[in-house]
Amino acid sequence: MKIGGLQKLTLIDYPGHVAATVFLCGCNLRCPWCYSKELVLPELIKNQPEIVEKDFFGFLSERKGLLEGVVVCGGEPTINEDLVRFVGKIKRMDFLVKLDTNGSNPAILRDLFKKHLIDYVAMDIKQSPKSSRKYNEATGLKAGLLKIKESIGLIKNSGVDYEFRTTIVPHVHTKEDIIEIAKWLAPAKKYYLQGFRGEKTINPQLEGQRPFSDEELLDIRKIIAPFFEICEIR
Ligand code: SF4
Repeated sequence: MKIGGLQKLTLIDYPGHVAATVFLCGCNLRCPWCYSKELVLPELIKNQPEIVEKDFFGFLSERKGLLEGVVVCGGEPTINEDLVRFVGKIKRMDFLVKLDTNGSNPAILRDLFKKHLIDYVAMDIKQSPKSSRKYNEATGLKAGLLKIKESIGLIKNSGVDYEFRTTIVPHVHTKEDIIEIAKWLAPAKKYYLQGFRGEKTINPQLEGQRPFSDEELLDIRKIIAPFFEICEIR
């Protein structure tokens, strides 16, 4: 496991909590719109300064009583075999843990839930489940649609607070795709539509592309909101 970044304070990454965010290097996908390529592409990861785990936990010790939680994100945190150990160590220090994941590793999710190591999960839904081919096109590499479906079920039945979210990308998603995603997830607690930022994307062809307009996003939200307890645009 390589820790490639640490945001020492965030008021927005962990809903309702003052938190720090730790960024783990590496990802099993290559979403064309990803703007964290320095944490995803091996040739860039090797240039990413590493934060030694001991220093990270030293930082957390100093922030006890000041921070409520830690957001564990990436890259994709679940590609790390020792994620359960890492998260367990954070929990033993009495911090809440939020995990950001692409949902491709239900086995690790199951283990984390079983051990009560997670307090909030945010899972990215990359595309409609119409076909594996379509989902894989959106993720750049094979995501494993069956595993994605398994993770959705696990999260919804975990008893742990959660959200699903989709970054809506021009030339990747259509309005119909998002409606299909909503029907697939429904009923569910929270679903967020995230605007696309055409900056330093993995696929350079997406840089500078016009995102969906506020009106288009509001129109989609109006259609899918009844499927969720909370459905918002970020
Ligand atoms: S899952 Fe996709 S968006 Fe998330 S870090 Fe990996 S490549 Fe980037």
